[in-house]
Amino acid sequence: MKKLSLLVFLILTSFLGYSQHGEIKSAGAMSEMGRNNFAPNISLDTLKKYPRIFGLGPLGKMQGEITLVDGIPFAGKADLDGKASIQKEWDVKAPFFVYGEVEEWESFPIDGQVTSMADLEKSIEQVALSKGFDLSKPFVFKISGEFDLMVTHIVTPRSEEFSGFKSRRNQENYTHENESGELIGFYSQIGKGIYTPQNSNIHIHFINDAQSFTGHLDKIETKLEGVIIYLPKRKKEISFKTTDTDFSKGRLGFQQEVGLDDMVKFHGHLCDGLVVGALGLNEALETLFPDGLIDRTDLRIVSKSSPCLTDVAVYLTGARYQFGTFYVDDAIEGLYVVQKISDGSTYQVNLKDGVKPSAIKEMEILAVQKELSDCQLLELRNLEDDFTQFLLDADAKEIFQIKAIDGFEWKPVLKGDFIKTDILNKNAGSCSL
Ligand SMILES: [Zn+2]
Ligand SMILES: [Zn+2]
Repeated sequence: MKKLSLLVFLILTSFLGYSQHGEIKSAGAMSEMGRNNFAPNISLDTLKKYPRIFGLGPLGKMQGEITLVDGIPFAGKADLDGKASIQKEWDVKAPFFVYGEVEEWESFPIDGQVTSMADLEKSIEQVALSKGFDLSKPFVFKISGEFDLMVTHIVTPRSEEFSGFKSRRNQENYTHENESGELIGFYSQIGKGIYTPQNSNIHIHFINDAQSFTGHLDKIETKLEGVIIYLPKRKKEISFKTTDTDFSKGRLGFQQEVGLDDMVKFHGHLCDGLVVGALGLNEALETLFPDGLIDRTDLRIVSKSSPCLTDVAVYLTGARYQFGTFYVDDAIEGLYVVQKISDGSTYQVNLKDGVKPSAIKEMEILAVQKELSDCQLLELRNLEDDFTQFLLDADAKEIFQIKAIDGFEWKPVLKGDFIKTDILNKNAGSCSL
């Protein structure tokens, strides 16, 4: 029995994966910039349109350091005396730059201590790994707290034509003791020489709490007590592995992976019903197919009449009305009754009581009666979107209930008089408040 539940758990993880959040992009390359006389490869203002963007790179022709924090561009510069200053400016260029958007962070405490950049890299890897990150994919992180000792630098111009130039000076170094602030960093195993140094997987800038200094982190020695690491919140990805026949008269074995996006294309839009259907049906399918592969030639299903639920049912099971493998019946208990034809095992899929907000239920009834105003329709849409997000964040085991049914009587009532409720308001106006 223990073995079985472990198996079921492993399969759950294969059906519902997590996507690493946020794509990391870069322009130019650290190892090339010197050869190209620090020619600009990106104008920062092209990133202005992303409100939650983070990024790092040198400023202009090595005139300082850029640290882009949550959509705010900080440019740190060193003057002739080595005094550091900071300016917020978009109208700047960089010879190389790495950047990525973060919609939402998740925070984790870290402990122990680090005595080198390599140690810090290891600590970041440990936290990310324990949170299920795939380290082969680059990601952005933040670390906030008070740090015992850090050494940072701000690069300085290499030619007289730029202010701040001083012969035989490439950078100004700064020592920070017991200073609080944030480390903004990028982790990447594939960015060496591009946006991380040749010998490291991390590139980090420090910005102090007062936002009066930003520079590139070279050394760190600190206890990690009270230090928090932030990683991008990852989104749940719904994906299913299916097997079908390999041509019109072919054999079973053609495998594909289908996801929520595919269902959206088939159904017409993303909605809470689609997500309810996919997550709920997944609970039954992972029990029917312990190897994680849904055989769409071996299923039949009864669905409630909702346009969203019925679309998920036919899409994921391969069952069809015309072959007597699919029918719609509002008299069944729950959302679906799904059956593996070859062995007769049958499961009923229920969304637990109270999971779907009653406000949505009430408004849906009115919408079907076409009694919602344009603005009330917008309100309903927002409620449904919130519920969709709730479903994607929830633990499916907590909100769905799967019940094995013995001796289920398959009695297709083939009728076509259900109301397609998702097109009733298709000519409604838009809400102007
Ligand atoms: Zn840097
Ligand atoms: Zn829908």
